[in-house]
Amino acid sequence: MNFHGFYKSTLLDYPKHLAATVFSGGCNMRCPFCHNASLVLRPHTQPEIPQEEILNYLRKRKNILEGVCITGGEPTIYPDLPLFISQIKEIGLKVKLDTNGTNPAVIKRLTEQNLIDYIAMDIKNSPEKYALTSGNSAIPIDNINESISLILSGKTDYEFRTTIVGELHTQADMESIGNWIRGAKAYYLQSYTDSGDVIYPGFTSPDKETLYRYKEILSAYVEFVDIRGAV
Ligand code: SF4
Repeated sequence: MNFHGFYKSTLLDYPKHLAATVFSGGCNMRCPFCHNASLVLRPHTQPEIPQEEILNYLRKRKNILEGVCITGGEPTIYPDLPLFISQIKEIGLKVKLDTNGTNPAVIKRLTEQNLIDYIAMDIKNSPEKYALTSGNSAIPIDNINESISLILSGKTDYEFRTTIVGELHTQADMESIGNWIRGAKAYYLQSYTDSGDVIYPGFTSPDKETLYRYKEILSAYVEFVDIRGAV
């Protein structure tokens, strides 16, 4: 795997855990609001962090850290993701995977082999607006469906989450997402903010009232709903 970012410890990326976070380069989506444009579009221009350096650090800090968050980019595009994760598990740390849900076969393998302890899957938008919101009309919606079903029916702890963008999401989309993930145990609304490194600049954040209205809509379908980020 190619890693281009490494937070040595954070409480923000893995719920209720002190974790390190690693960022893999490249992604099969092109979400216009993506806040990591350089990592997604030009990973080769970013300094690469060797896997062994990451693993050595984790070995040294295994008594302080509780877990590792693997994010991107999209980590599941790397065939050697399971191998990397098994090396982390050998150290004795928990693993959280952030994914856009495009590779259900990888999710299935990782969960069946007990390689991940927590999975956070993005729900980009309602199914009808997936091509628009992911910036890739070739994304098979069946794969997203399958990932949702696997997560809902599996034993691995999870959350679904959506980055809410003023220009891309509506109340009707929230109803549609709610129906899609009906019965889920956790869903987070993340307010879009311009990182200064977005794929397509110019989007705006939703206002506070909108986020609270969306939260109420989703609460009819999902056990626990919350808002993340500045509101
Ligand atoms: S926001 Fe979209 S383009 Fe950016 S890393 Fe996530 S899935 Fe890929």
